[in-house]
Amino acid sequence: MALINEHFLKLQSSYLFSDIAKKVNSFKVTHPKDKIIRMGIGDVTQPLAPAVIEAMHKAVDDLASTENFHGYGPEQGYSFLIDAIIKNDYASRGVFLEPGEVFVSDGAKSDCGNIGDILRHDNSIGVLDPVYPVYIDSNVMSGRTGVLEDGKWSDVVYIPCTEANNFTPELPARRVDILHLCYPNNPTGTTLTKDELKKWVNYALANDVLIMYDSAYEAYIQDPNIPHSIYEIKGAKKVAIEFRSFSKTAGFTGIRCGYTVVPKQLNKLWNRRQCTKFNGTSYITQRGAEAVYSTAGKQQVTATINYYMTNAKIMKEGLQNCGLTVYGGDNAPYLWLKTPDGLSSWKFFDKLLYEVKIVGTPGVGFGPSGEGYLRLTAFGDRDDTLEAMARLRKWLR
Ligand code: PLP
Repeated sequence: MALINEHFLKLQSSYLFSDIAKKVNSFKVTHPKDKIIRMGIGDVTQPLAPAVIEAMHKAVDDLASTENFHGYGPEQGYSFLIDAIIKNDYASRGVFLEPGEVFVSDGAKSDCGNIGDILRHDNSIGVLDPVYPVYIDSNVMSGRTGVLEDGKWSDVVYIPCTEANNFTPELPARRVDILHLCYPNNPTGTTLTKDELKKWVNYALANDVLIMYDSAYEAYIQDPNIPHSIYEIKGAKKVAIEFRSFSKTAGFTGIRCGYTVVPKQLNKLWNRRQCTKFNGTSYITQRGAEAVYSTAGKQQVTATINYYMTNAKIMKEGLQNCGLTVYGGDNAPYLWLKTPDGLSSWKFFDKLLYEVKIVGTPGVGFGPSGEGYLRLTAFGDRDDTLEAMARLRKWLR
């Protein structure tokens, strides 16, 4: 008899976004004529950069001729893309990587989850709270988290990021083997300065900790004092793996492309894992990603990011003008809204849906310290963003 991995059974059966979808669907059934403004799921809405489209069309044409046809590519990614990543995302910031340290993939979600394959099941883990749920759930699947008690996993060290510490977390009280950091942070939209990040790298160096650094939203950083990569901090290459994605940088949520930097000291096993279980990202996709780094591509991608960040500014000012307390949104496409009158995250979600017809994401879905908050995303259409703020003003007046 085939026995299952019983750790999967510990996972809660429903996923945050399907719970939200169910609530929105019941609202639609009872209010078929109402226009809902969706500010919940972190998916992009604007079309791909023309430079990316052109490169992908050309890549399709390549496949039509025998000379330019591409079958299986290198599992680690094509060198044309790896070289562009190293030059544009790292060398330009004084970080020097070797081609063998960059692994192109189908996105950061898979890599953030799959990286656990190369690590023992009894490593202890620490996570920011609240945070992107994939880090915890994938560790649950590997049996690293213990049991769920009062909304917390018994073997996970939660590192609260709250109003009380100005979203600048303290080092964990108990030593951990693996630490998941995510900056700019999903869901709070907050960031760490270079000095603050240095504190974490030094902690990892001194305590032999492996940092998993997810910087999927680095392209949204506006403040020059905020690091885009953990490798901007001296010594980080000894202790950190970094996850990046073209999803939010360049609208690739549907195309699927990301990459992970695993420094030389750590990467033999990851290379082995990828060569065994992954057969590479498509040639067409990688040609599209390469075009993000062309002169036209850079301009077009920046224009789209500026569009979303203008939405974020409109939202932040709009919410503050309504007398609400809101964090994030300055260097990230997420706004972290404190619920008024001490309402729970879900209660406020319901009120926003039924009374204002705006969909957010309940903060508690990202971890226990997210209770009392709601995440709004700036990925929407400009007119919808303006309309949402007008509705809120009217509602709260
Ligand atoms: N990391 C964070 C922090 C995210 O918020 C997301 C997506 O929302 C991802 C990774 C997933 O990125 P990808 O689309 O590359 O899988």
